[in-house]
Amino acid sequence: MNRRTILPGLLVLMITCIAWSIQAQENIDFDKVVIKTTKVADGFYVLEGGGGNVTVFAGSDGVLLVDSQYGEMHQKVMDAVAKISTQPIRFLINTHFHADHTGGNEFMAKHGVIIVAQENVRKRLSAGRPAINGAPAITPSPKEALPVVTFNDSLTLHFNGEEISVIYPGPASTDGDSFIYFHRANIISTGDLPAALRYVAADLPAGGTINGQVVASERILKTANPTTKILPGHGMPVITVKDAQDQHDMLVALRDRVLSAVRAGKTLGEIGHQSLRAGIR
Ligand SMILES: [Zn+2]
Repeated sequence: MNRRTILPGLLVLMITCIAWSIQAQENIDFDKVVIKTTKVADGFYVLEGGGGNVTVFAGSDGVLLVDSQYGEMHQKVMDAVAKISTQPIRFLINTHFHADHTGGNEFMAKHGVIIVAQENVRKRLSAGRPAINGAPAITPSPKEALPVVTFNDSLTLHFNGEEISVIYPGPASTDGDSFIYFHRANIISTGDLPAALRYVAADLPAGGTINGQVVASERILKTANPTTKILPGHGMPVITVKDAQDQHDMLVALRDRVLSAVRAGKTLGEIGHQSLRAGIR
């Protein structure tokens, strides 16, 4: 393997890891999954279990959700929301197009929910994609599952007395990820942008980039202030800005170590071994 092929090779390895984890998620026994609800502030809750975390924002205007989980989890999500509020779900914001965050879209739309997302989420859901690197093919979504409100850079919703900014930091985990800032509550919901205190990945065939994940992480930190509560798409229901800063720093160290190894002419195997020794795997 020559030097030029090493970095793409490593990134393919990363996407392969995501592909495996997506496949592992598809083996979930959904009947056995129990949703755990955590209150994070007045009117704000996080639902965990199955796929990506769901942010629930409930108030007198109704309910707004960030992400819709796997389709198989839809009824459990509805039951969990019903325990929080008797108001209808009015809006659903998709952080990105992966099925663990959008699988419930079609069912939500049938309940009259307005789906909002960055325009590339709609494009990727409509197109689907063939099987890659061991991950199953993604079938094109039915029309009902597609976001009906799309935007390019950012969009603002005024709901339940909140100003809600949906912000696109550029290609990161995919080419359509947004994070959502609830100004009054001082809460940021991140989807799969770096915040989950886990090894960060990028879905390269969907336009994601590791460097884009660094940029997105910086944008989240710039939007936040020291007391902002951060709600990651996986892992914990809520983390601090300090945790998000640590995640950013880990990601930058990883990127820089891999890059300097590539520039020093190391092979993919050597880079993997070095990362292991450096404890950044
Ligand atoms: Zn996810």
